Amino acid sequence: MDKKQTINFGAGPAKLPQSVLLQAQKELIDYNGIGISVLEMSHRSSDFSKIINNTENLLRELLDIPDNYKVMFLQGGGSGQFSAVPLNLIGLKEDRCADYIVTGTWSAKAAKEAEKYGKVNIIHPKLDAYTKIPDSSVWSLNPSASYVYYCCNETVHGVEFNFVPDAKGAILVSDMSSNFLSRPVDVSKFGLIFAGAQKNVGCAGVTVVIVREDLLGKALKECPVVLDYQVQAGNNSLYNTPPCFSIYIMGLVLEWIKNNGGTEAMERLNKQKSGIIYDIINSSNGFYSCPVDPECRSRMNVPFRVGKKEGDEALEKKFLDGASKLGMISLKGHRSVGGIRASLYNAVTVEDAEVLAAYMKEFLKEHH
Ligand code: PLP
Repeated sequence: MDKKQTINFGAGPAKLPQSVLLQAQKELIDYNGIGISVLEMSHRSSDFSKIINNTENLLRELLDIPDNYKVMFLQGGGSGQFSAVPLNLIGLKEDRCADYIVTGTWSAKAAKEAEKYGKVNIIHPKLDAYTKIPDSSVWSLNPSASYVYYCCNETVHGVEFNFVPDAKGAILVSDMSSNFLSRPVDVSKFGLIFAGAQKNVGCAGVTVVIVREDLLGKALKECPVVLDYQVQAGNNSLYNTPPCFSIYIMGLVLEWIKNNGGTEAMERLNKQKSGIIYDIINSSNGFYSCPVDPECRSRMNVPFRVGKKEGDEALEKKFLDGASKLGMISLKGHRSVGGIRASLYNAVTVEDAEVLAAYMKEFLKEHH
């Protein structure tokens, strides 16, 4: 195989659509003929108002967000929301407790952070390895919990919910950082959804928070003002300087998603791309193996080992070196799990997945 171009399979910050980069490049120095860059623009200017309103409107349209939900564009990343969620919502009920469905690193971190502000109930027995979603029959939801929290796609382990958990009437909160806008979502089932932009919808620096209006105004008194949803929503995310350029880039990505068929089209393509890679893993007679239960294998992040079930590290290094020579980068698994991880976010094309698949087949033939 010859190297044709660089293909970024990174888990985030991740690949952006080429057309978005080209437009940002074109507009970098002189945005829309006004003589300055978005990087230099006041967040209180009418030009920036148009940018942030456009980004919000596109998001509302793409996800069909009901009118009784506020949309915010905040700083602090997904990790900032691990604190903001309990600071704003754990006091919704007197007991100050919350249920956390822990299925991987990111939900575990969120649960640990929430413990600073109230009682956290991990709603199923501790998992030895993050390779499955325990059956909901073993979930012990606490009826006095202020909310039920889960991470929709565990980026490190490649564990994805393909259903919306039944919170039994409690407020449902989801971290959708690594599968946001990769498929349609019924926002009305959630009290709150948040997502860092740097995987599926833009670049690092901005985190989207979608929250039902009646949940605002219940923050603990120790909640920092910049994390207080009522303050941020009441100021249209302009209580303090927002990540202006990241919001602008998100607007371009949302436009691109809209022009490419919206969330339904993203879902179809994401299934196709991940299917191409999982098919090779499944038909490799154990040369490639994915530890994740087939029921919850992620369409976004495909982790796999090479050579044997627990991974042949020398062979995996060879696999990564060979991929890199062909222009396929950032395929190394997260340092906590090792192996390989192919991230196939919205901007990764079917052709990109096919290039990886062809390489996997060739590598298998040479080494099996
Ligand atoms: N949640 C998920 C699912 C993630 O994948 C990540 C980062 O990769 C985070 C949260 C943390 O995001 P940040 O690095 O923006 O704080």
